[in-house]
Amino acid sequence: MEENSKKVLMICTGGTIGMLPKDKNDSLSPLVPASWDRIKDNSPAFDQLSFEVDVDERLRPIDSSDMNPEYWISIAKKIRDDYEKYSGFVILHGTDTMTYTATALSFLLENLDKPVIITGSQLPLAKARNDAAQNLVTALMLAASADGLPTVPEVCILFNNTLLRGNRSRKISSSGFAGFQSPNYRPLAEIGEHIKIDTKIVRKDTAKGFFINEFLDPNVMVFDIFPGISPTILRNVFAIEGLKGVILRTYGTGNAPTNEDFLKEIEFAITKKNLAVVNITQCAQGMVEMGLYDASAQLSRIGVISGVDMTPEAALVKMMFLLGQGYDTTTVKEQMQKDLRGEQSVNVFNFIYERGGTKETVFKLATKQLAAGFVKEKIVTANIRFDAIAVKGGTGAEEKDLQATVFMNYPSADATTSVDIPQCLGVIEKKYDGQSTDYVLECTRKVRQVIDPSRPVQLTVVSRNGKDISWDGAFLSIYTDVDI
Ligand code: ASP
Repeated sequence: MEENSKKVLMICTGGTIGMLPKDKNDSLSPLVPASWDRIKDNSPAFDQLSFEVDVDERLRPIDSSDMNPEYWISIAKKIRDDYEKYSGFVILHGTDTMTYTATALSFLLENLDKPVIITGSQLPLAKARNDAAQNLVTALMLAASADGLPTVPEVCILFNNTLLRGNRSRKISSSGFAGFQSPNYRPLAEIGEHIKIDTKIVRKDTAKGFFINEFLDPNVMVFDIFPGISPTILRNVFAIEGLKGVILRTYGTGNAPTNEDFLKEIEFAITKKNLAVVNITQCAQGMVEMGLYDASAQLSRIGVISGVDMTPEAALVKMMFLLGQGYDTTTVKEQMQKDLRGEQSVNVFNFIYERGGTKETVFKLATKQLAAGFVKEKIVTANIRFDAIAVKGGTGAEEKDLQATVFMNYPSADATTSVDIPQCLGVIEKKYDGQSTDYVLECTRKVRQVIDPSRPVQLTVVSRNGKDISWDGAFLSIYTDVDI
């Protein structure tokens, strides 16, 4: 497109960038949002840009602490209504809830093939010393893909010369100019004298026809666990009327207290109240790895699902979006673990198998169909966890040893010995100490070899010493790479 035929729509929603003191005679009075008209004289001159900018200030300017799902949908509708007329969009927004808005728009705007750049500032445009002017101009340039810049067809946050994927971003400073980071995803561009966009990690333009989703369900909440948390608190939280989903913020790689009373409340919420409970870390960086510690394995046993490396904002708003689609809890849980807009680094496919029998030496666990979108070449890792696996009926030490072979898509009932056939996932050889014990079988390479996306996944456990084996449950989770 010719440079001078490019046009950007700038949508004003408020925030510090456009704020003025409440009392015009008292520069220290609290800041309140003002209309663009009152602040535009402080703005860099748009006529010095190589493209045109239209300003849309039909939305009420707010402090972004007042942001809500209806407002997000209004922004999405504005973009839809003017989508064909503009090369890209800039949204002026307060920093406090900018990451929530960026995430919401990433889900509401479907098949986006134009830049939507959200920006704001820590100091108002109207102040002599500010970070607003530069943020604004750079955001406009990115939205226009000006001066030969590659197009970034994503919802991004531009702040302090950093371009971030919106749904990966977090506000990390309440007043520093470097206010935002995306701790689990590299910045999309380096911005200095030159703007260098890292096109390899920018989402690809899908070009399947842009449209918007118009429904979000706000019946969700984020909840932080803490040492000493009382199960009564949990019970009351889960009893909130209308609540459908909870983002549970846990420690480290997704760990939580292992005491029965705590777990019972969560299990009750999942099994009896049909809530979707998603595990997100309280850490600033890194991901949930359920099963790495017993303290997280217990959560997966009771049906908590992994939010892998999503930010709390992304997990919360994604849940609003999925519930807004009218999905049932099973689908919400399945979709929460799949990357939809670049908000997480891996997809998780979980298969939960119920309690195993005790009277047989060959157990075929129920078959599970692989979800759509599974690509076996993308498998990163997989593990099977057997909870409380034990040998029954043995007396001597040897008889008590666990010896079993685990198969996927087991070929025939009599193949009890071979460990080399492709369907074999691995062998369990474990000294049983008389206590119930858990066993985790890592099977990345094997899973990739044997899995056939067109067939249901069936696990079979074959006892190798003729002893009966039992377990409380088995949990297979397969992690796959996402498309960028
Ligand atoms: N309270 C302001 C807002 O979020 C803060 C800011 O914009 O920096 O609207």
